[in-house]
Amino acid sequence: MSFTFNNRIALVTGAGRGIGKSIAEQLAKNGVTVICVSKSAGSCGATAAAILVGGGKAKALAVDVADGAAVAKASAGLLAEFGQIDILVNNAGITKDGLLFRMSEADWSAVIATNLNSCFHWTKHIGRSMTQKRWGRIVNITSVVGLMGNAGQANYCAAKAGMIGFTKSIAKEFAARGVTSNAVAPGFIKTDMTDALPAEVAEKISSVIPLKRLGEAADIAHMTAFLCSEEAGYITGQVFTVDGGMVM
Ligand code: NAP
Repeated sequence: MSFTFNNRIALVTGAGRGIGKSIAEQLAKNGVTVICVSKSAGSCGATAAAILVGGGKAKALAVDVADGAAVAKASAGLLAEFGQIDILVNNAGITKDGLLFRMSEADWSAVIATNLNSCFHWTKHIGRSMTQKRWGRIVNITSVVGLMGNAGQANYCAAKAGMIGFTKSIAKEFAARGVTSNAVAPGFIKTDMTDALPAEVAEKISSVIPLKRLGEAADIAHMTAFLCSEEAGYITGQVFTVDGGMVM
């Protein structure tokens, strides 16, 4: 079965690398125009260029998603240029791990601002155009640790759990306007973020995953693209774990 996208316009944050890049490519393959956002112009520019070379439609924009004023300005410019944005994927994220007693307030705040406050900023500014058009898809990329907690990641887990509450609240606020809001919770996925793990830690993690391997960015992109499709219109307020069976 193939899914329907009707030439929609999407904005994907963190589209320069890893999971976000794969989501941008998957949506573009389905005829969606993708606005690729990342922190550095180089990385979102490379993703958008690759989509254009492949015959897809894309634009790159460097925006610090943690900066509310920058997101407001970017959103206004994009809505003026495109008229509407139908699909929003809040994927940009960072980690700044440490045990609580050693965690600085700066590391706490940076992770909350980048992973969680960014969802507030983008959804507030882009969501209105969706509710006005009576159609929209919002997908927030959280994490299984937002469900389970993880020692050494209190800031990251708090942000990811916060995203889940946010997703469900927005689902309730926007449902009557035809806009769905869902979360995808990846387990351990092979990207720059997990490349930082020592090999023995990665092996230990694989051994406790029922499917016995780390996931690929494409595993997350497939689920996300489905949630952005026409066919997913009766699904809202849900969290989908894509984790090789870690959380059951
Ligand atoms: P990644 O490879 O480190 O890529 C992160 C992307 O986010 C980059 O494109 C980066 O921009 C962008 N970004 C970071 N801070 C930003 C900011 N302040 N403003 C704008 N863009 C910013 O990460 P990933 O592994 O693909 O993870 C993507 C999402 O999935 C994250 O939310 C992460 O928490 C979540 N996740 C990942 C895993 C995993 O195992 N990898 C598991 C669960 C959840 P630049 O390219 O410009 O640096």
